[in-house]
Amino acid sequence: MKRSVAIDGPSGAGKSTLARSVSKKFGFIYVDTGAIYRAVGLYVRQKGVAPKDAPAVERLLPDIRIDIEYDDDGVQHIILNGGDVSDKIREPEISIYASDVSAMPAVRAFLLDMQRNLAGRYDVVMDGRDIGTVVLPNATVKIFLTASAEARAERRHKELKEKGIECSYDEVLRDMEYRDKNDSSRAIAPLRPAEDSVLVDTTELTLEESAEKIAEIISERIGL
Ligand code: C5P
Repeated sequence: MKRSVAIDGPSGAGKSTLARSVSKKFGFIYVDTGAIYRAVGLYVRQKGVAPKDAPAVERLLPDIRIDIEYDDDGVQHIILNGGDVSDKIREPEISIYASDVSAMPAVRAFLLDMQRNLAGRYDVVMDGRDIGTVVLPNATVKIFLTASAEARAERRHKELKEKGIECSYDEVLRDMEYRDKNDSSRAIAPLRPAEDSVLVDTTELTLEESAEKIAEIISERIGL
């Protein structure tokens, strides 16, 4: 029986950095499910389809093949129809596309099997919005990671600036609030903590402190 750690929460709470760090510590593979939604968003944009046009987005789904590969350092690469799009999917515009298309039931159904298959084959740390509630309701450990919108926007702004992506703090905060609202209010798989999840608020914690706290929670539950 494979073990799984589900880490859910709003954008900018530190999920991917923390999930990656604990996956290394426990020797699990890390699956960033947001990247998979972003790949769908990217394809939709490449095809010039409006991200809220559900029938048009649905028609594109059969043409999308997404593969996840890991390099020697365990870093996840997202392959869209044979091409590595790991960098392209990080552009701020793609965040909005991903958030819009992820509200569509057909898109969620399309990606569900892929995520469950990975968790069936490997011990995983999987991060996203609905991992503990929908994708892996029987996950060994469920963590809901959060922080204030301002703290999250500040971190994301710094991260984007470091990557050379130009944008203002206000723009990032606005995008974040748009996505929070979209992700929490959608009818299907809305962002909310699973009843049996452990809540971790990182507003006042450094990355190291957050990582330590999460590692402790995981150790306790899986006995490693
Ligand atoms: O985590 P990240 O910011 O990369 O995710 C991009 C978007 O994909 C989110 O705003 C959310 O709308 C969507 N998403 C989702 N379910 C997941 C992961 C991401 O709906 N499990």
